[in-house]
This record gives sequence, structure tokens and C-alpha cells, in this order.
Amino acid sequence: NEGQTLRIRLVRYAGNRRLLVARDMTHIQKLERMRQDFVANVSHELRTPLTVITGYLEAMIDDEPDERCVVPLQSMQEQSERMRRLVEDLMLLARLESDEPNDAARVVDIPELVAQVVSQAKTLSGVEGHRFEVHIENTLCLVGVKSELFSAFSNLVFNAVRYTPAGGSIQVDWVRENETGLFSVTDSGPGIEAQHIPRLTERFYRVDAGRSRARGGTGLGLAIVKHVLLRHQGRLEIDSEPGRGSRFGCRFPESQLRSCKSAKAL
Ligand code: ADP
Repeated sequence: NEGQTLRIRLVRYAGNRRLLVARDMTHIQKLERMRQDFVANVSHELRTPLTVITGYLEAMIDDEPDERCVVPLQSMQEQSERMRRLVEDLMLLARLESDEPNDAARVVDIPELVAQVVSQAKTLSGVEGHRFEVHIENTLCLVGVKSELFSAFSNLVFNAVRYTPAGGSIQVDWVRENETGLFSVTDSGPGIEAQHIPRLTERFYRVDAGRSRARGGTGLGLAIVKHVLLRHQGRLEIDSEPGRGSRFGCRFPESQLRSCKSAKAL
């Protein structure tokens, strides 16, 4: 029927026999779309009240408040900032999950974008002072949506800063490897136990929820990375071992790679 979605699989069983299995996905897809729309609408509706609250809080803090109010006001400001980040990430995820095509795709100057991400990560690292090592292949660019790639790469580098203890090392690479483009972030942080790795890109999945919240995480970072990569024919690679650090890689196929001359000409 028109508008109906079937998932068809060919299953081999009992030696050489084959079975064609058709599953009607229409209802599941409809529910999934309703979930996506609901999340997108709720996050959109929360944005305006949040802007008003933050505005008033800022004004009250600037206004030299009564001594007893300073700590509560600062705490309210921190929490509303956390909520703002959450709402922004939910809205971005809803946009990435929707079927809207990548019509803003063009050649993106990845060397420049990676340099920007690293510069912001150094600011985030601040006095904690991580050791950064950066390798960028300056002639290698990528077809894609700049803002989406920025979100994906910055989530990975900021995670490295957030989870790696002060003084640890963070290596950021953008290189050509075996006909693919590879962006990777390697840190000397705590590492992740193998059983958690397959679930890391689920929304709100955290190995240690308290630590994630304390470090300013929304729990949506790796879900965003996964969806950005899906929209760029990319693949996420995660290698990690407890006590030895982690490596998160974004691998892009040859078909997405371009020489940077075309990006600079824009
Ligand atoms: P969060 O906002 O909680 O960081 P993410 O989706 O970005 O959410 O990451 C999911 C979880 O993966 C984190 O809560 C953390 O437990 C783990 N994680 C992500 N990056 C790293 C890293 N570089 N080192 C150790 N653990 C990490």
C-alpha cells in the first residue's frame, strides 16, 4: 500500500533453504516520528522561558545582590546554563535525526575547522593544562555541513578535555589513511570498559553519570557525533582500555574527500 514501509530480509536456514521475512515497519516508523517531533517541540518551547530566566538572573547578579543571595543566584545561573546546553543539544539532535537533506553541504575547510576546535579546547582546558599534540594534513578537505562537522569534532575533543585528568595528553589528528580521511582524538584519560563501548552513542548513556554531569556533559555528545557521521557517510571508531586512555575516530570515505584548494576558493 502507498505509505507503507516493509523491511524485507532473506534468511538462510536448515542448510540451503531460504525464507523471505517481511516486517511491516509503518507503525514503528510513525511512533518514532512522533517521538522525534515531541522532543523537537518540547526543546523548542523550553528555549524562550529559559532565555527570560537567564536574562533576569544575569541582571540580578550584576546588580550587587544581597550577600545571602549571591550563592543561590550563582547556582541558579549554573543550572540554567546547563539546561540551555541540554536544550541546544536536543534541538540539534532532532534536526540531525529528521530526514532533512544535507542541502547546505559544500567543501569544508577541515584544517581551519580543526584548528578552531583545538583552540576552544585549550580554553576549556584552562589552568588544568593538558598537553596537546596536533597533526593536520593541510591540503585535505571534506564535503559536508560545516556546523554539523564542528559539533561532532568539538564534542570529541571537549570530551577528551573533560575526562582526562589535569596534565594528561590529548592528540588530535586529521590525516589521510588508506584512501580515507580520518579525524581522531586520542587521550590519556581513564579509558572505558569494553562492555560500555557499544552503548556510548545512545542518548543519555553515561559510564559515570555523576562525573559526566559534574564535568558539564549533557549525555548527548556521542549521539550527536553518530548522527553527524551518518549524514556524512562517515564511521565512528572507538578504541579504549581502562587505565590506558581512549581513541575516538571519525573515518570518511574517499568519495567525501576534496583538495582544500576548492574550499579556499569559496
Ligand atoms: P557526556 O555529555 O556524558 O560526556 P557523551 O555522549 O559525550 O556524553 O559521552 C557518553 C559517555 O561516554 C560519557 O558520559 C563518558 O562516560 C564516556 N566518554 C566519552 N568520552 C570519553 C573519554 N574521552 N574518556 C572517557 N570516557 C568518555
